[in-house]
Amino acid sequence: MDYKDLANLIFPDAKPISYYEEKYKPRELKEGAIVTRFAPSPTGFVHIGGLYQALVAKMAAQKTGGVFFLRVEDTDQKREIENGVTGIINSLKDFDMDPDEGMISDTDEKGEYGPYKQSLRKEIYQSFAKYMIELGKAYPCFCTTEEVEEIRQKQEAAKIRPGYYGVWAKCRNLTVEEMADKIKNGEKFIVRFKSPGREDRKIKHKDVIKGNVEFPENDQDIVIIKADGLPTYHFAHAVDDHLMRTTHVIRSDEWLSSVPLHLQLFQEMGFRAPKYAHISPIMKNDNGNKRKLSKRKDPEAAVSYYKEEGIPPQAVKEYLLNIANSTFENWRRANPNKSIDEFDFQLNKMSVSGALFDMVKLLDIGKTVISKMTAEEVYDKSMEWAKQYDQELEKILENKEYALKVFGIERGNQKPRKDISKWSEVKENIIYMYEAPKEYDFDKIQGEDAKKVIEEYLKVYNENDDKETWFNKIKDTAEKCGYAREVKEYKQNPEKWPGHVGDVSTVLRVAITGRRNTPDLYEIMNVLGKDEVISRLNLIK
Ligand code: GLU
Repeated sequence: MDYKDLANLIFPDAKPISYYEEKYKPRELKEGAIVTRFAPSPTGFVHIGGLYQALVAKMAAQKTGGVFFLRVEDTDQKREIENGVTGIINSLKDFDMDPDEGMISDTDEKGEYGPYKQSLRKEIYQSFAKYMIELGKAYPCFCTTEEVEEIRQKQEAAKIRPGYYGVWAKCRNLTVEEMADKIKNGEKFIVRFKSPGREDRKIKHKDVIKGNVEFPENDQDIVIIKADGLPTYHFAHAVDDHLMRTTHVIRSDEWLSSVPLHLQLFQEMGFRAPKYAHISPIMKNDNGNKRKLSKRKDPEAAVSYYKEEGIPPQAVKEYLLNIANSTFENWRRANPNKSIDEFDFQLNKMSVSGALFDMVKLLDIGKTVISKMTAEEVYDKSMEWAKQYDQELEKILENKEYALKVFGIERGNQKPRKDISKWSEVKENIIYMYEAPKEYDFDKIQGEDAKKVIEEYLKVYNENDDKETWFNKIKDTAEKCGYAREVKEYKQNPEKWPGHVGDVSTVLRVAITGRRNTPDLYEIMNVLGKDEVISRLNLIK
């Protein structure tokens, strides 16, 4: 009895790995093109950190003319949630980040390197596990959970490094005959990797993001095939990223310490290892403490939050690129109208430590992104959001012709309005175009003086005036009521007048909209129309 017989006994039907090597040919890509992937587990909602990884992987591949694919890592079936896969796919879709290859729905996929769902790759993993057993590099382990726990307790009591390794790896030294007998007797087993490593030796590794790192070698005989016949993450990673011809594994830095194990697996299987790029998590400032964005504590950790709030996906992506490459901000400033796809993203320029999540900055980007949209786009997107989240807004927007005029105010010009950062802010920012203010908070000019301004203005108001005439009339009104006609004049001799033309237009602005800050008042009055303007001004009596 030799390793080959043992392997046949364990996996009698598994195909030789040459079958898969042949089936999944090396990719024919142009020089320098890289292959990246997003490999989430459908075990919970999509985290903003996951989206960040996916974006980085997509940008990195896209820039080189490579491939970005989506692989679903569903080998932990106990933790899988309902609609987990659909949730992942829809999130990528929402952010216009469809993969080039991989899962495109819960059941469908595209690409030549599938299946892209790990639970459908069982026989592939078993082939590779069989191959490892044949080489004497993997073995069946018969230890029960209780026995493994017992080992751990002994190690703990003796203050020794925990794990299944070296002398603690009980099954590692069984003879092939002993193993075969146990199997024939129906004893349950899992398959473990036979690590050739030694803890007292170091390995050096160069991570694309983290740079040079040094770790002790792996010496743990980790499980590669579990009792349910499915692989562990480590083994599936090695097999899949080899067969799918991934060149760059871009993933969260919680996996950095597994690199020694992963490199060893690649080495022992005779595969060329991919490059690794470990991304730092997105952090949050929690009363002065820097901590990871938490699924439990922070609503903004869930990708769904951005959709619910109506933060444009474009803004989220731009913000994430800002975190990813500090050069993005300058690039954007120099190229305000280019698509982010044109940005020269650099994987190796990513920060080694975790960036702080900054909602203020994200919303600011949202304002810029929305300011560049046409009225029609703003309308469509607000409406789409309203239909799902705000019936009141949906109703307000029913009259499309009018809404387009409202959104058209100060838009499409050199310096477009920048008052909306997310769709959930639309209502409060346009409501005064639909109803007269309920309360007024005039600024400098109050009470009777404000009434006088309005009275005088009503005498000269004409809805057909061009902008210059319109403004001249406000100046006239200022003069008539005893305020400075020009701001400049006033500033030179502030004691001469109780206020200036700006204060007068504030009275009109507040009377018409209820706000001190709005987009262009002339345009607002034009859209509201003569009757409405007069009726609103007449409310101040
Ligand atoms: N399924 C793993 C996770 O969600 C993937 C890590 C990787 O990208 O390799 O953490």
